Amino acid sequence: MKNHTVIASDKNRNDNNESHQPDIKIGLSACLAGFEVRYNAGHKQSQLCLKTLSKHFSFKTFCPEVSAGFSTPRPTMRLIGNPDEPTLTYTKDSSEDLTDQLKQGFQDELTQLDDLDGYILMSKSPSCGLERVKVYQESGMPHQKFGMGLYAKALKEKYPLMPMEEEGRLHDDVLYDNFVTRVYAHHNFRKEVLEQPSIANLMQFHASYKYMLMAHQQKDAKTLGKLVASHKGLSFEELTTQYLALFMKIMSKPANRGNHTNALLHMLGYLKQSVSSDARQSIVDAIYTYNNGMTPLVTPLTLLKHYFKQYGSSYINMQRYLQPYPENIHPIRKYCR
Ligand code: SF4
Repeated sequence: MKNHTVIASDKNRNDNNESHQPDIKIGLSACLAGFEVRYNAGHKQSQLCLKTLSKHFSFKTFCPEVSAGFSTPRPTMRLIGNPDEPTLTYTKDSSEDLTDQLKQGFQDELTQLDDLDGYILMSKSPSCGLERVKVYQESGMPHQKFGMGLYAKALKEKYPLMPMEEEGRLHDDVLYDNFVTRVYAHHNFRKEVLEQPSIANLMQFHASYKYMLMAHQQKDAKTLGKLVASHKGLSFEELTTQYLALFMKIMSKPANRGNHTNALLHMLGYLKQSVSSDARQSIVDAIYTYNNGMTPLVTPLTLLKHYFKQYGSSYINMQRYLQPYPENIHPIRKYCR
């Protein structure tokens, strides 16, 4: 099978028989979608991807090893040599260099991923692993420095701003929240700025992420604000390129409790004129209870949303920080946001 690209959500079309194709497209290692493409002719079907995320994302699945002509089943492979430029070989016979064969197999695919807003990869694989992939040495032991799977590395080089994560790491609620938030942000930027290019739309997009950016990284968020405000001398293309690079860099760092607390307190300021001091104090208490690790973020956030709905301006209610992605996309959301 030369090319194994399919839309996984066709295979696993939702339990509730939805017929529409979700607008957001995500790349997915084919074995995670349940295709029997692994070395042992098995799969690693991900319930998280197929039961939860498939309701919101269309998956474009791909197996670089099958695409490169390796059989299923096939002997196991591993990376050897320099962790920065490793060589792919069979595990039991390292005399044959398989690197070029694998790279040839994914070259075409790499040119067809411009419309993706994220990628979920299988961990530990010498082809798909995004991090902590073992690179073996002549001694038979792995190098102390980890490498990346060859396909994952090429993907990262070609699409450095695309949100990518290993499926295993998505079971951590903070990493899950960060990945899904970035996917929606990447998609929103494409739809709202790149497909309707204007300075006004860029400013509107930036304004809607103001408190989200503050929660992620205040210093770079200020730099980004200056870029939008004083963009003279830059073409729109240069401006959006620079903007997206810094925006995605800021978003890639998960927000911590301290920064969330700061963003929540700033947002509370918008209720100063309209809500009694007693009510505001109860929100402050909820924010600090969250800050102390005793409640999830969703507690002060729900309180704020309740008051914003009644008394908030359109500016505060458009903040993506309040709802960065659909409510039902987070199976473990109550522990996180
Ligand atoms: S990890 Fe990647 S190369 Fe290995 S079976 Fe899954 S999709 Fe194919």
